[in-house]
Amino acid sequence: MIPFLDLTAHHASLRDELAAAVARVLDGGQFVLGPEVAAFEAAFAAYCGAAQGIAVNSGTSALHLALLAAGIGPGDEVITTPFTFVATVAAIEYTGARPVLADVEPDTGALDPAAAAACITPRTRAILPVHIHGHPADMDRLGALARRHGLALIEDAAQAHGAELDGRRVGALGDIGCFSFYPSKNLGAAGEGGIVVTSDEAVARRLRRLRDWGQDGKHNHVVKGFNARMPAIQGAVLRVKLPHLDGWIAARRRLAQRYRRALAEVPGLRLPAERPGARHVYHVFAVRTPDRDRVRTALAGRGVATEIHYPNPVHLLPPWAGLGWRAGDLPVAERLARETLSLPLYPELAEADADAVADALRDVMAEAACAS
Ligand SMILES: *Cc1c(COP(=O)(O)O)cnc(C)c1O
Repeated sequence: MIPFLDLTAHHASLRDELAAAVARVLDGGQFVLGPEVAAFEAAFAAYCGAAQGIAVNSGTSALHLALLAAGIGPGDEVITTPFTFVATVAAIEYTGARPVLADVEPDTGALDPAAAAACITPRTRAILPVHIHGHPADMDRLGALARRHGLALIEDAAQAHGAELDGRRVGALGDIGCFSFYPSKNLGAAGEGGIVVTSDEAVARRLRRLRDWGQDGKHNHVVKGFNARMPAIQGAVLRVKLPHLDGWIAARRRLAQRYRRALAEVPGLRLPAERPGARHVYHVFAVRTPDRDRVRTALAGRGVATEIHYPNPVHLLPPWAGLGWRAGDLPVAERLARETLSLPLYPELAEADADAVADALRDVMAEAACAS
């Protein structure tokens, strides 16, 4: 069986360094925030090209607190996409604001700037694009739209650490960038974690308060905050891993190119887009076929594990039915949810295994062509 992801292999070469970093925390006795987290915040913010990094306990908290720090709350509307992980939409709801779902672009699956523009009302306060699968959203057009209407532009970069647009890294393309370090992300902690990056000093100050019970120094609670602090062990682990991120991205991109060469011109199969000027980091290598469910089952039968990111757009999930969108309202997102299939792709995937995946997929696609 070729697994979809192999986190054991991913950590094997760093095992001793990671164990030493964890031991450093155990010996130091500071288990929450502290010097390991502060050092990681500075390193990750610099990596993104932002002035400040505020480490938190998850990507969900990063989104939630970023929205609060931008002043979003009840009565406000935030425009985002339904073709994302549910946390994007939930974080907007946590603030009391209303998520407004706009359709996505058919090639990248990211928020369509024209669709977002059509959703702007006097209550709109922010736009929250998602760099879905690791390909940057169209930040040039979304940025122009946000500026024209005086809206905050907050990036959900949970799947896109290191992705670039015209040589600039995501996270610092808008006003505030939000990342997750869930273990399966391109940069993962040994547990939960997240970070917000920004070059707005006032926003950074608010975020530092919000993640630590609204405190500005011990016992000085100046706002109602949350417990969203990053544990020191996660900061220590992420400090060890960050210098390897670019190498891992390069490995992902090499494997993606290999898939592209092997799968070019397979009838009925569409490969993920990489737009001019964009550097895709392939958190997910998502192909598209109308025959997705049959293809997925057939691949499993040949020992190839796949995933779907995501089988339902958020507006068609029962807990979010109350938002008011129905099947057919956001057709591009709905079609992508029906057709996308994520192939195994991680830095340690052997080239021979990638070739085997591609061979299996070509065969399975050919079977469909013969049957129809
Ligand atoms: C993973 C993810 C999140 C949530 O991050 P957690 O660390 O799991 O809370 C948010 N948005 C997107 C697009 C994600 O992929």
